[in-house]
Amino acid sequence: MTFSTRGGPTSPETVETGTTVPPSSQPPVALDVDGLRKIYRSDNGDVEAVRDLTFSVSRGELVCIVGPSGAGKTTLLRCIAGLLDLTEGSVTLDGQSVDGPPEGMAVVFQEYGRSLFPWMTVRQNVEMPLKEKGSRRAERREKVDAALEAVGLADVSTAHPWQLSGGMQQRVAIARAVAYEPSVLLMDEPFAAVDAQTRADLEDLVRELWRRLGVTVLFVTHDIDEAVFLGQRVLVLSNRPTVVLEDVNVDLPDERFQLETRSSPRFAELRARVYELIQAAKKGVRSTAEV
Ligand code: ADP
Repeated sequence: MTFSTRGGPTSPETVETGTTVPPSSQPPVALDVDGLRKIYRSDNGDVEAVRDLTFSVSRGELVCIVGPSGAGKTTLLRCIAGLLDLTEGSVTLDGQSVDGPPEGMAVVFQEYGRSLFPWMTVRQNVEMPLKEKGSRRAERREKVDAALEAVGLADVSTAHPWQLSGGMQQRVAIARAVAYEPSVLLMDEPFAAVDAQTRADLEDLVRELWRRLGVTVLFVTHDIDEAVFLGQRVLVLSNRPTVVLEDVNVDLPDERFQLETRSSPRFAELRARVYELIQAAKKGVRSTAEV
């Protein structure tokens, strides 16, 4: 594999690169969101989508953002990706202020069908951002091979996206994102459009890639179970105008299994906590009690 391992899981064990992370050391901040506010202005009136969001994601973390529909998750993600101007506050990636699409970010969207180019093969789709980045041919080939191998698509590299199932197309989008070796990988409800079994497989793939490659992931979903299953932390958003209700630490073991983890008592407690927060938010109650 030729992927860079910029961080890796932040737990105090030895990660695959052989680097020992002492429990006290804090990995550097990859992404910092400070006082973000977003108001959509139009002739029909203003909509305050996001009121005041402040959080950061350390290098190598896998953080989930969960909130009810209309809570401003997509707005937040577009602000982070430099696709929307902020009304107030700042977004910083690797210490650089984001004021347009930053080079160090890759985004996987829900609509894989629209994010892949149908006239290009799987390999060409994965390779394209590397070409734009100016990577050399041999390096591109190596990275594309490694990424396709990592997502289990090495044998369909010459197929076109439309010849693949929805789950496989989303794997192509994930391969493209990891081959690019972003500083932060943003995922916007990436599995909302696939069936339950495929979704579980793709969740396992994200955990595996994160653990193996050490990529920093910010994963947005409206699915509470998915957020708790995937994340090391879950940021629970309020209803619009949005603030962070609670930063829930997911103290489940690093090895997660669809059946075992989801049926564990701790999973149920964490799930109930996030659910409770979202329900309370809908009724306008702001709770800060610990799980
Ligand atoms: P989520 O992704 O959590 O469902 P969104 O970020 O899509 O939420 O939307 C948050 C709020 O902002 C919603 O009330 C939505 O109607 C509003 N909104 C989103 N985009 C626009 C826009 N371009 N103009 C005006 N209001 C918008």
